[in-house]
Amino acid sequence: MSDRLGAMVTCGLVDKLERSDEEWRRELTPEQFEVTRRGGTERPFSGDYCDHKAVGAYLCVCCGQTLFGSGEKFDSGSGWPSFVAPLDPDHVKLRSDSTQGMVRTEVRCARCDAHLGHVFPDGPAPSGDRYCINSVALEHRLERSSSARPPGAAAGDVSGREDEDE
Ligand SMILES: [Zn+2]
Repeated sequence: MSDRLGAMVTCGLVDKLERSDEEWRRELTPEQFEVTRRGGTERPFSGDYCDHKAVGAYLCVCCGQTLFGSGEKFDSGSGWPSFVAPLDPDHVKLRSDSTQGMVRTEVRCARCDAHLGHVFPDGPAPSGDRYCINSVALEHRLERSSSARPPGAAAGDVSGREDEDE
């Protein structure tokens, strides 16, 4: 099941993207593969986006799905990019993770199942959530006002999309 190449399965609100490990390995750097497909964690303060302040969106490095926005990013001092919330709750999925002797909530990409990081209940008010995300799981895209989608524009609008590349 998991080794069907590039199979798109519509399930719920997002189109699922399934690829084999072999295929992911070809597309990702070894560090990206280790974190997103093996549930690894980059070293704190090592990632490109830990101290990154540019305006824009953070996309899944595996499938390009929009995950987080610069407006929700905050400096947690943890050594990893931290967000108070995802841009769209349907674009991530949360699951209980009891590895490494503690129960945490894992954050995954809802589209391609990439491991992104964990969410902790010690974030700032009002949500109180801290999405602690690996830099290598993300790809930042600068906001370009000329082609920005109006709020609420759905994915069906193909003409002005920024994320057409594969
Ligand atoms: Zn993804």
